Amino acid sequence: MPRPRVLLAVLVPLLALLGLTTPAQAAWPAPVPVVSKISTTDPVIFITIDDGWAHDPAAARILLDRNIPASLFLVSDAASNGPQYFRTLLDHGPSRIENHTVSHPSMTTLDAEGQRAQICGARQRALSTFGFEPRLFRPPYGDYNEQTRVAAGACGAKALVTWTHDQTTWGTWQPPMPQLQSGDIILLHFTDGLAADLTRVLAAADAAGLKPARLRDYIAD
Ligand SMILES: [Zn+2]
Repeated sequence: MPRPRVLLAVLVPLLALLGLTTPAQAAWPAPVPVVSKISTTDPVIFITIDDGWAHDPAAARILLDRNIPASLFLVSDAASNGPQYFRTLLDHGPSRIENHTVSHPSMTTLDAEGQRAQICGARQRALSTFGFEPRLFRPPYGDYNEQTRVAAGACGAKALVTWTHDQTTWGTWQPPMPQLQSGDIILLHFTDGLAADLTRVLAAADAAGLKPARLRDYIAD
């Protein structure tokens, strides 16, 4: 007759394998919420800037001169390629570094373990390179599944963030500017055109009576 503890040690993984654990156990850690817009009456928008391959000095000047609290969703491999640019933004302005994976794969092409390696790995790299902890996760291309939400929570994120409006200019294609509203999350990218994109978005926000605010402050722990 096996001792009860031994029996449990055998039974629990077996039940988990068969999908017979309780929902609370199966969901641990809990999947984080998905956020594409903040529900608020504050006159605010949220500037988010992705990737980090290009380092436009004019864009950095705008962010610092206007004290814009941008969320920088950096790919670790891009951030390591010229970290001083981002360190200046973090040290001299209100921007914060957020999580956009180590190397920018589509999460839906990875298994749970692979997703966790990308998200937890990027958290570790942000801590070791900049000394700041990301609290939000944005999946590359906006692609995610249930496993992504669980992995994000396990790797210290409090939300999976997509966007309300993508205002990135790629080459000669410039997206039309929508009527901005309170709580909109604006997606931009670190491109050579970032200064121009930022200028357009900030002008539209000014015209709508909206001010940039820090996204992580509007998402509950
Ligand atoms: Zn990206």
